[in-house]
Amino acid sequence: MINKVLVANRGEIAIRIMRACRELGITSVSVYSEADKDALFAKYADESIYIGRAPAIESYLNINKIIEAAEECGADAIHPGYGFLAENPNFAFACDKASIKFIGPSSKLLELMGNKIAARQEMGKAGVPVVPGTQEKVSGYEHAREIAEKIGYPIICKPAGGGGGIGMVIVKNDEELLDALESSQAIASSTFGLSDIYMEKYLENPRHIEIQIMADTHGNVVHLGERECSIQRRHQKLIEESPSPVITPELRSRMGETAIKAGRWVNYEGAGTIEFLYSNGNFYFLEANTRVQVEHPVTEMVYGIDIVKEQISIAAGNPLSFKQEDVKARGWAIECRINAEDPLNRFVPSPGKLRGYRSPGGIGVRIDSSVYTRYTIPPIYDPMISKLIVWGRDRNEAIHRMRRALYEYIILGLKTNIPFHKAVMENDRFISGELTTHFVENETSLLEDMERIIERDKPMEERLSQIFDERKRIAAIAAAVVAGHLPGKSPPQSE
Ligand code: ADP
Repeated sequence: MINKVLVANRGEIAIRIMRACRELGITSVSVYSEADKDALFAKYADESIYIGRAPAIESYLNINKIIEAAEECGADAIHPGYGFLAENPNFAFACDKASIKFIGPSSKLLELMGNKIAARQEMGKAGVPVVPGTQEKVSGYEHAREIAEKIGYPIICKPAGGGGGIGMVIVKNDEELLDALESSQAIASSTFGLSDIYMEKYLENPRHIEIQIMADTHGNVVHLGERECSIQRRHQKLIEESPSPVITPELRSRMGETAIKAGRWVNYEGAGTIEFLYSNGNFYFLEANTRVQVEHPVTEMVYGIDIVKEQISIAAGNPLSFKQEDVKARGWAIECRINAEDPLNRFVPSPGKLRGYRSPGGIGVRIDSSVYTRYTIPPIYDPMISKLIVWGRDRNEAIHRMRRALYEYIILGLKTNIPFHKAVMENDRFISGELTTHFVENETSLLEDMERIIERDKPMEERLSQIFDERKRIAAIAAAVVAGHLPGKSPPQSE
């Protein structure tokens, strides 16, 4: 039985998890840093515990402080969300040691999957097709040359302990090899504390397609179809959808079965994602993510399954609440990651105070967020404002609904990437479903499109922003009345 869950995360995912707890009748506890004392997620929780200063290393990455907080409040389980400690085997181990259930796979499995070289080897053994490349770490320049000869350029050097696209270097020819090797190793060791790197064939125009799996502790493993996450910038996803425009029912069941095979092979527990690169009808294992993904809502919308509730239920030892044959896809879902960044200026982060905030609503619209009007987005964490997810009966309806929702979205006081999302939703290639991971760099008209769209939508934005100006005016008058600068009705005198 799980009665109390500590959420070792912040922002939208913290609220997402607490929502699941509330529906399950489970008490939620948030931990928050100095920078998050006014954050919505810390107020939403049934209990909140301060754990340290703003730098993540002193709070959200501090295993001791989080375990202490969990012990102090008597939590039975910890949900790590995504990022921070979600895939850290030491954290899962510390939870075990404190007899607190870590909501996710075992620390051993996190260790195995966290090392991408080990994960590639394991998947190879399981019979899952992996991107052609090394099965072991690159031992030096000579070794790298041998590999390059075998697999042929272009090649990509990748840190074994990597994530977030960091330290990946593309190599086009022999001349570039040494530099690429050294720079990938240097970034790997400074960012991940492990200089091991491996090499893969660099697929020229692939699509990123991933399969959601769920596994319980009773031997049941199911898949919830695919998500297409090809719209990326610097290897970071910006727009995701489910299903993928390119996946046929036959391919879906083939990829799904492969992902289940991968899950069974490693004795998976909980929610996980098997990421693939897809190219010319073939798919290759890229990596496994042993946690709930940012983009999980598109799957939830299409399959009608609450992935986070299911994670908690699995952690409590229950069998999955559904079987593969009960899993039915309905319609189409798209997610746009709404970030505080300037799309007209190389997407530089634009944190700051939300002078006005009104999120879209209406049929088929879902917002996962932890912000509110007058909230200040701290510069120290990632600048996500929200995830905007829409559902439609088909892709066309979902695209039109996303356009409408983006049109309604009012965020005042800082720059956001909404113009980028609007431009993509109106882009012919996107509409036709011809996606690759190079979409953003290849569609050179996006910048101009954004500028045009900003001008076009200005009147609507100005009309809606008046709502906030009006409020400001009233607040100023009220403040003046209270301060005695303006005549106002005096409050009734008490007897
Ligand atoms: P990370 O864990 O750092 O995010 P991934 O291995 O998941 O790294 O890759 C992230 C993205 O980088 C992929 O979605 C894809 O766009 C690109 N990528 C990675 N490996 C390759 C490859 N072998 N060929 C082409 N693109 C790749």
